[in-house]
Amino acid sequence: MKNLFPYSFNEKRYHTYNYYLKQTYGGKVAKVILDAGFTCPNRDGSRSTGGCIFCSGAGSGDSNIYRKEDLLRQYEENKKVMDRKWPNRYYIPYFQSFSNTYGPLEKIREMTGIFLDREEVAGIALATRCDCLSPEIIGYLTEINQIKQIYLEIGLQSSNDMTGKKINRAHSFEEFREALYTLKDTGIHVCVHVMNGLPMESEEDMIQTILDLRHLPFQAIKIHMLHVLKNTALGDIYEKDPFPIMGREEYIDLVVKQLRLLPPETVIERLTGDPLKDDLLAPSWVLNKTTILNDIDKKMRALDVYQGDLYE
Ligand code: SF4
Repeated sequence: MKNLFPYSFNEKRYHTYNYYLKQTYGGKVAKVILDAGFTCPNRDGSRSTGGCIFCSGAGSGDSNIYRKEDLLRQYEENKKVMDRKWPNRYYIPYFQSFSNTYGPLEKIREMTGIFLDREEVAGIALATRCDCLSPEIIGYLTEINQIKQIYLEIGLQSSNDMTGKKINRAHSFEEFREALYTLKDTGIHVCVHVMNGLPMESEEDMIQTILDLRHLPFQAIKIHMLHVLKNTALGDIYEKDPFPIMGREEYIDLVVKQLRLLPPETVIERLTGDPLKDDLLAPSWVLNKTTILNDIDKKMRALDVYQGDLYE
């Protein structure tokens, strides 16, 4: 088996986000979650209504606090909370809730502008959808990428358009692919989100998503396990008629396979999520994040495999 993995001294067998941050900025970096008050074309009727079936009304940003305050106040307050845990050298303001490029350029200019001359800000991250990236917005983000590194987090979940229909993504894989190629030479750092454990998908489908993605131009990935949350369309289905959900060991095995298929240089930003316990219907095993990550490490060591060793 070939081992081209260049990050062994990182103590992990995959290219962790922490390793990337340390190599890039030379010190500790923390993301500071912000809510700029956007909505999503998948909720306001422009693409669809109701949103993705797993998404709560908080737009995938459920762990945010101080959401009602102005942006600088949110930033300072959330930064203070992070500093209590560990003092950081740099910060990445992270516009997380809903689609943060779905709005007028002026708003995007204003919300990002306040961070451009702050020394402690390493970069600016925006979560969004592939259908919310107009040429003028990409142009502006490319421009400010010269001042602060711009990180775009773009949801895909699955490359299978049938799954996309069933979960009400309201965009195709082709639209997603085109967006990545439009961003390719801008210098903007793209992180793709995929989701394992969707009830209509087999393990082959989840592997296929990685196979479809791996030659596309993106720099990082977040792999999530499905969280069935209260007050979501999927949660309502589950409460009426609970469906089988992927088990912990099955998830760990699958993630190891997916890591092996990805390019070794892809930054792995996440392999588990952080649901709020009170919002979670299932599966309860996702609440124990540290042990899942430890078991992924153990599995990779036991099999003596690395991220990218099956990448061609
Ligand atoms: S695209 Fe994102 S914010 Fe919009 S409904 Fe889906 S998960 Fe929620």
